[in-house]
Amino acid sequence: MSSLETLTVHGLGRVADPYRDIVPPIHLASTFERAADGSYPGGRVYARDGSPAYIEAEEVLRRLEGGAQALLFASGHAAATAVLQALEPGDRVVAPHSMYWALRKWLLDLAEHGRIQLAFYDNADIDGLRAQLAAAPTRLLWIETPANPTWEVTDIRAAAALAREHGAATVVDSTVATPVLCQPLALGADIVMHSATKYLNGHSDVVAGALATREDSPLWQRIRVMRNLGGGILGPFEAWLLLRGMRTLHLRVRAACANALRLAAELEAHPAIAQVLYPGLPSHPGHVAAAAQMRGGFGGMLSIRLKDGEAKARDVAARVRVFKRATSLGSVESLIEHRASVEGEGSRCPPDLLRLSVGIEPADDLLADLRQALAD
Ligand SMILES: *Cc1c(COP(=O)(O)O)cnc(C)c1O
Repeated sequence: MSSLETLTVHGLGRVADPYRDIVPPIHLASTFERAADGSYPGGRVYARDGSPAYIEAEEVLRRLEGGAQALLFASGHAAATAVLQALEPGDRVVAPHSMYWALRKWLLDLAEHGRIQLAFYDNADIDGLRAQLAAAPTRLLWIETPANPTWEVTDIRAAAALAREHGAATVVDSTVATPVLCQPLALGADIVMHSATKYLNGHSDVVAGALATREDSPLWQRIRVMRNLGGGILGPFEAWLLLRGMRTLHLRVRAACANALRLAAELEAHPAIAQVLYPGLPSHPGHVAAAAQMRGGFGGMLSIRLKDGEAKARDVAARVRVFKRATSLGSVESLIEHRASVEGEGSRCPPDLLRLSVGIEPADDLLADLRQALAD
């Protein structure tokens, strides 16, 4: 038996007839032939119901997450939206204060329009979460760990156990951790969500999302309906690119982790920097929790806060030469962004913060680039 990693490298390793293609062909068909007797010999009716273009990528992801099933979506947001649409109107959602900005805005928007009830907890505060879950019947606990943009860590096992006690399902946005570093389903989460745009694809050339479930539950059945009838489906070419990206997932994530740890440690001593936020540093408040539930690294995302405030932060971003100034994360090339101005009005992000998505370039190049950008 080969390892999960080998299976991923081979993209499941299925060889296609009649030409014995080493990589799977791209299934572009939107519809599938019906036999004279009315049956569907290919087992498919229409691509929105489930395109054969998804089979390999969904199966690789399902295995990586150790889940019962996985589904691809048109984006990370489409995946999250399918979960929220699967709830009943007025269901209560408990979400962390720190989380991916646009998803937080979406939750607030849904709450404002009476679609859901919404309450927040401090990411790392399990006692606070317990109180929030006890305050009112809750349908869904949302977790993001490590969480944007300060990389706070939530103890998934403890939080998911509390949610279960209170009859709530737990969804973990594991985009930053990736299945290489963390297995939320094994820690008790019901569903794991990814912006596959980020590490899973890893090359800044696909927008995609994914969900994997621990078991085939009524909630999951409802989510399936939301994909089929809500229509937030991924294109076949994007699914194919995603499968290709995932073949190097382990290598890319390990390289990014090693780079991020080195950068975090060296930048912590830099005189222009007030604070380095990275769960791999013992100084990070989430370090112990992260070490307990992540294996093989602490991810490729880190943030730095500048002693001289916002103007200095913007100046550093303006002066980088190797890092690219762009939002998003999880790709092979390193990105830097002044997060508060990307998020805009209502942002909770400190204005002196730069968010770094550390790529797989040699760490020396990245470090030299940041040092010249930080210099007076
Ligand atoms: C990017 C991102 C999302 C949203 O995903 P899209 O693919 O952009 O729709 C959600 N959560 C996290 C943590 C992300 O980084």
